[in-house]
Amino acid sequence: MLVDYHTHHHRCGHASGNLEDYVEAAARARLSEVGLSDHSPIYHLGEDPHALPGTAMSHHEFSSYLKEMHVVRDRFRGRVQVRLGVESDYVLGWDEHYRALWRSMPLDYVIGSVHWLGQWSIFSPELPVGQSPDDVYDEYLHTTQAAARSGAYDVIGHLDCLKTRGHIPDLRLTPLLEDTVRVLADSGVAIELNTSGWRKGLGEPYPREELLAVCCHYGVPVTLGSDAHRPEDVAADFPRAAALLERVGYTSIMRFENRKKAPFPLR
Ligand SMILES: [Zn+2]
Ligand SMILES: [Zn+2]
Repeated sequence: MLVDYHTHHHRCGHASGNLEDYVEAAARARLSEVGLSDHSPIYHLGEDPHALPGTAMSHHEFSSYLKEMHVVRDRFRGRVQVRLGVESDYVLGWDEHYRALWRSMPLDYVIGSVHWLGQWSIFSPELPVGQSPDDVYDEYLHTTQAAARSGAYDVIGHLDCLKTRGHIPDLRLTPLLEDTVRVLADSGVAIELNTSGWRKGLGEPYPREELLAVCCHYGVPVTLGSDAHRPEDVAADFPRAAALLERVGYTSIMRFENRKKAPFPLR
């Protein structure tokens, strides 16, 4: 019985299906829990609609998202446990904003993801003007550390997502990467094993096995997510993911309720 704590739906503008479709898929996959975690509005880019097309839900949709999550949770009670969450961008300097915002919401958990370094999206094919791959990787890891320390998040999303467009210059364990894992461990946040890397043709999940093993070594708790943007991707590659978690030494994954985590045995 596994959990899928990373799912999206149509509100973000680049996923298909309703919340209910994802929960139905989770029930069919016999998951014990499913977390709803669509992209929250991107606050640091402001209200400029041109900055956001198809990137995240718009500001005015957040309250309907919250309401609908409650309705869906109640509707599926007894079939699959639904957890209410959100995937929130973390940007340097926005700690207090996100800490206060998410504390004020009735959520079970919040995923903090580094998708942006300032105005630059990590999914851009080109590096920011005037920056080397090392500069970007350095900033990405420092931003990840700040996200963990911010206290705004329960889970840090897709740890090595910067590799998606080939922007990680060295995939080996560097001193700064090891420091980052220590910061994760000290701050008490969990990471996720995010299976979408396999579906994107990267040949590996987020994080890659070597990095996952280092996280396990330092005692960083882990949860599991598909990052489904289509209902049919709920629980995608989960047997493979569970085997990987066990191989690197994890014996449990985290579940979340009311911003508190509790371990759930892998078998
Ligand atoms: Zn997305
Ligand atoms: Zn993400």
